[in-house]
Amino acid sequence: MNAIDVVIVGAGIIGCSTAYELSKLGLNIEVIEKHEPGAMGSGWTLAGVRQSGRHDAEIPLAKYSVKVWSDLNDILDCETNYKQEGNLRLARNNYEDKIIKKLVEEQQKKGLEIEYLNNSKDIQEICPSLSSKIFSASYCPTDGHADPIDTLRAYEKAAKKNGVIFSNNEEVLKISSKKNKINSITTTKRKIYPKYCILANGIFCNKILESVEKKIPLEIPIVTVIQTEITSKILKPVIGVANASLAMRQENNGCFRISSGFQECTGNLKLKNGMPYVETTLNEIQNTISQSIDIIPELKNSSLKSFWGGLIDLTPDALPVIDNVIECEGLIIACGFSGHGFGIAPAVSNIISELVLNKKTKLPIDSFSLNRFQNYIFSKKEKSDLTLHG
Ligand SMILES: Cc1cc2nc3c(=O)[nH]c(=O)nc-3n(C[C@H](O)[C@H](O)[C@H](O)COP(=O)(O)OP(=O)(O)OC[C@H]3O[C@@H](n4cnc5c(N)ncnc54)[C@H](O)[C@@H]3O)c2cc1C
Repeated sequence: MNAIDVVIVGAGIIGCSTAYELSKLGLNIEVIEKHEPGAMGSGWTLAGVRQSGRHDAEIPLAKYSVKVWSDLNDILDCETNYKQEGNLRLARNNYEDKIIKKLVEEQQKKGLEIEYLNNSKDIQEICPSLSSKIFSASYCPTDGHADPIDTLRAYEKAAKKNGVIFSNNEEVLKISSKKNKINSITTTKRKIYPKYCILANGIFCNKILESVEKKIPLEIPIVTVIQTEITSKILKPVIGVANASLAMRQENNGCFRISSGFQECTGNLKLKNGMPYVETTLNEIQNTISQSIDIIPELKNSSLKSFWGGLIDLTPDALPVIDNVIECEGLIIACGFSGHGFGIAPAVSNIISELVLNKKTKLPIDSFSLNRFQNYIFSKKEKSDLTLHG
């Protein structure tokens, strides 16, 4: 037997932020990570911190998170490189313009600070490097971006200061329950008997949920990411496009990080230097580059530094599961962030700490229940994707 109260499976942004949040409760916490912190979604990410363009159910979480992000460096006593430099979502034609207009109307009704810019002059005032061919845009000045690895390190460091143990290169294999309560966790190295287990292991959640006969319907598409060499500072806001086929931001060091839209993943997850890696295609890289240059013409002079594929834990409604597993008391799921979990991590970790304390959460979580998929019929395609990636 050991004295660990909480095991957190996975050291991505959700696992690390939750570790920090729970460490304030005086519990004994251990984070168990199969590789290294940030090995998957939270390392592959674009790391935009946005409220705009989110589903209604996520807006309260995003608003809460933005307040936390503003103070996060001080809270964690460490640099996250968070910058509140806005988010511009662009329309490149008449069709996309209609999407942007509707989005702005709907999100203004939800109380979000977002405006519709109907000409390239107003857009270029905010971001001079953008092409004059852009039709219109939504602009949310309180959105922003952060450095994903700096943020993970900051959470990890603050959690460690509060006594959290991080065990890397160890895989959680299964959970077993007794009388509808969590009993033990088996890893590649040992067996642990915690009171709580927080499942924050992204695309691999179903591998563990299987042991308690639960399953989240997930598709695992791929997003292609390219990174340029250091370029002069020409972009402050995060850029998205109406049809979600591209997003980009300029990192603190001057490199551009640019991501494509979702594609069906036909490759395998491999290991490269001990870290998970998924291959993308020249076609997707080319498509991402050419869309980027259309938006910011100056990018044609940049050199390509790096590229990678990122896998997404996409649920049928593109909303996460943040919930207790009723049939296994002590097991809490925080997975299925569907390609937008980075920005809302502060809210998610706050929710999880309230679930651990058995409190009613201050933020609304009904839309994130596991039970909403109770009668979901897994199609053949989704089954094969799950076999491939998780
Ligand atoms: C290309 C791309 C762009 C994105 N852009 C944005 C954006 O702009 N804004 C935004 O908000 N979100 C964005 N996202 C989504 C966001 O990055 C993710 O939702 C978030 O990082 C997921 O964090 P996580 O902690 O849930 O999962 P992960 O970061 O995937 O962490 C899960 C961890 O669990 C570990 N693990 C898995 N199985 C086990 C096991 N059995 N035992 C132990 N450890 C295990 C893995 O190694 C991994 O480190 C993007 C994602 C991608 C891929």
